[in-house]
Amino acid sequence: MPRRVDVPTLVDQVLANQRAGIARAVTLVESSLPADRPLARQLLAALLPHSGKAVRVGLTGVPGAGKSTFIDAMGCRLIAQGHKVAVLAVDPSSSRTGGSILGDRTRMGKLAESDNAYIRPSPSGGHLGGVARATREAMIIMEAAGYDIVLVETVGVGQSEVAVSGMVDTFLLLSLTRAGDQLQGIKRGILELADVIAVNKADGDNAGEARVTARDLSIAMKLINDESTGRRTPVLTCSALTKTGLDEVWQAVLDHREWVDKTFGLEKRRADQQVDWMWSQIEGSVIDSLRSTPELLKLGNQLEADVESSSVSALEASSEFLAAYARAVPGFAWAPDLSSTRQ
Ligand code: GDP
Repeated sequence: MPRRVDVPTLVDQVLANQRAGIARAVTLVESSLPADRPLARQLLAALLPHSGKAVRVGLTGVPGAGKSTFIDAMGCRLIAQGHKVAVLAVDPSSSRTGGSILGDRTRMGKLAESDNAYIRPSPSGGHLGGVARATREAMIIMEAAGYDIVLVETVGVGQSEVAVSGMVDTFLLLSLTRAGDQLQGIKRGILELADVIAVNKADGDNAGEARVTARDLSIAMKLINDESTGRRTPVLTCSALTKTGLDEVWQAVLDHREWVDKTFGLEKRRADQQVDWMWSQIEGSVIDSLRSTPELLKLGNQLEADVESSSVSALEASSEFLAAYARAVPGFAWAPDLSSTRQ
């Protein structure tokens, strides 16, 4: 049965920070039903002027690095300082079968109890582009609802981090100590994205090891950081369990944000992110449209086989495909389902 969504009511509920309304609004932007997209756009257009004021932080780390423990402890601390904290997640693999679910309330027990926290797990399934879009739009809802800190959690495998770094002000990598290095296999690409690194579990017998790891990582960052910016990624140690070093990590996040503002201008950086986002949405939709009719799909598959068997050159095949695409363009319904776009 189709759901009836009254957008103006939903807008009022979000702005009044009513949890049920916020949940419905997020469900709407997560929906992949084509009929829901115009409603979602209407909702976002109304909420957009009320958004943009939050500190947006991405948080990554391999499973077991302590992300949920960290978010729980840090979130409660920030709320005690008077903030309102939203936790979102991007996990296209949607590890609902086995492994932990990112942004799962039960993983952040104390924070989940607070009236000033809103925790939303990753939208399930689908392409990264669709999941990232939904999270980006959920962030607008959170900000409009008055959350002034938005944490976006992601599991450190690569693609999702690139997507998340395009929607946050600061990207924080939670790392394990050296002993776990081979296991955690932090990819260079993730180190490149990190604005702040915190070596977690710096407690008990592990404290010394954590300091050594932090020093090693700090040296590694010398090679990875872009020298022209003159900024070296700070590497700190902390313990989410004993809650030591958390204030310093948060201060490093705020310092980075201030550095971005001074160096590039925060608004300019966010505007650039929007431009990148616009193009990735356009590109994703155009790429999807290349396969959006049975004829094009068939032709694409046929040409792929021909090129593979060397019976047609790549150049000829691409021309043939593009010619067929150009003929088909007037027939396209140019309202592709954005939820299925790639990034
Ligand atoms: P996630 O998969 O990254 O969310 O990791 P979790 O937060 O679930 O933590 C994985 C395990 O490490 C749990 O058993 C936590 O209790 C433990 N843990 C998390 N942070 C710390 C820490 O700072 N010190 C110690 N000793 N254990 C921690």
